[in-house]
Amino acid sequence: MTKPTTTNTGTPVESDNESLTAGTQGPILLHDHYLIEKLAQFNRERVPERIVHAKGAGAYGELMVTNDVSRYTKAKLFQPGARTESLVRFSTVAGEQGSPDTWRDPRGFAVKFYTEDGNYDLVGNNTPVFFIKDPIKFPDFIRSQKRLPGNGLRDHNMQWDFWTLRPETAHQVTWLMGDRGIPKTYRHMNGYGSHTYQWINAAGERFWVKYHFKTDQGVDYLTQADADRIAGENADYHRKDLWDAIERGEFPSWTVHVQVMPVAEAEGYRFNPFDLTKVWSHKDYPLIEVGKWTLNRNPANYFVDIEQAAFEPSNVVPGIGFSPDKMLLGRVFAYADAHRYRIGTNYAQLPPNLPRAAEVNSYSKEGAMRYFYNDASVPVYAPNSFGGPHADPALAPDGGLWEFDPTMVRAGYVEHAEDGDFTQAGTLVREVLNDDQRDRLVSNIVGHVLGGVQEPVLSRVFEYWTNVDPDLGKRVEEGVRAGRDGAPTPPPSQG
Ligand code: NDP
Repeated sequence: MTKPTTTNTGTPVESDNESLTAGTQGPILLHDHYLIEKLAQFNRERVPERIVHAKGAGAYGELMVTNDVSRYTKAKLFQPGARTESLVRFSTVAGEQGSPDTWRDPRGFAVKFYTEDGNYDLVGNNTPVFFIKDPIKFPDFIRSQKRLPGNGLRDHNMQWDFWTLRPETAHQVTWLMGDRGIPKTYRHMNGYGSHTYQWINAAGERFWVKYHFKTDQGVDYLTQADADRIAGENADYHRKDLWDAIERGEFPSWTVHVQVMPVAEAEGYRFNPFDLTKVWSHKDYPLIEVGKWTLNRNPANYFVDIEQAAFEPSNVVPGIGFSPDKMLLGRVFAYADAHRYRIGTNYAQLPPNLPRAAEVNSYSKEGAMRYFYNDASVPVYAPNSFGGPHADPALAPDGGLWEFDPTMVRAGYVEHAEDGDFTQAGTLVREVLNDDQRDRLVSNIVGHVLGGVQEPVLSRVFEYWTNVDPDLGKRVEEGVRAGRDGAPTPPPSQG
């Protein structure tokens, strides 16, 4: 038996099909409040899309710790044998809601762990580095990758203009133009915390760490041609693949590793370990296994569980802290701020964001859409004499403390012995990629540049790639010149 339709407040309604009118040809009556509710609700079905990472997919899962890393952190979720429920949201960066999953772009890899000490969010990407290293450049960078103000079109000239004027982008752009710039599926990519974080052990010792989630499905990619074809056939290709795999019971998993750097080694390390455009070489800091992370449950409701999911690097738990990585520090502010704007001040009370096991003893109160509240016996201020919660000074070392020079400056990162905008990009091209991968890198760059890059940006593009690797620069220039002189210009590929 079907259930009766009701209004939002539970009153049965008499029609789902005809509005109330004054006679068959008369005006619609304002007191048809069910019609009004329906239209008004529809107008308000969307929340603003994320300004970056708008298009995505997600699932629930679990982290199981298989190794003992307790000498580096006391965080409960990383203790031997611990199992912690988790939520992930994968995404593209620049495309809007509904844009094709297979556009060339880094992929977001945002993970939430529902720990007994509250939510821990690791808001990473499928690359260990990023385009920029100072958050003051973030709005400029993103605007240059989105749309022109006049015609609302994506513009490769604008993208390359920014990239070549800010050479610290070279490492990430090399990744982006290589095979890993278009993963085969969300299941076939690694995740990286990317930023440098702090771990604190039970004795109060501190370490710098980087997270690596290595896919157990194997890293795999799409060629530009396949990605362009799929973009037309099924814009939701990656979202569907993730959903279908989990529905089939083929649960994707990743082996979680960390690189750990004793705090005393940071200053003398050959790369500045807080610079988000650099990696820590595996040879210097080998991966240490932590556990297995598996996705095993699709969301019950896409909007509730994934669109309203709010990941924020400010969510850390005892045993984990921040670092002098300026991009991390900028994001620690910006993400929670974005959620307050996009979803509303009480976003932490929504199902995907609600802490699972922890007691929530916050003094925050009221605000739009408040659902949970403290018992009336709990004072609304601190300190108080009536048994209200109190902060724990013993947690102070966990807040991400580190020593620093207290002089106020606006300065770049301190350059370490082997730092340089092009160093690690060159290592990737020469020492990691094989000949086939290098050929595809050249072809992807040439195709992208032919999609509208003009002088004076074009000359800087050749110089940029020559700085990464002289042979690569030569091949890019030859390819672009041949494409311009001979063959018709291919349509711009997105990304
Ligand atoms: P290693 O030779 O020890 O590591 C190279 C790493 O590159 C591999 O472990 C793999 O990382 C990754 N890789 C393999 N194929 C590709 C590809 N086609 N595109 C992008 N990455 C690939 O050297 P180093 O640690 O000294 O790093 C050398 C360069 O490798 C770096 O400059 C960086 O560009 C790149 N790299 C380094 C990583 C790091 O954290 N040290 C991580 C990833 C890349 P994975 O197993 O994570 O897939």
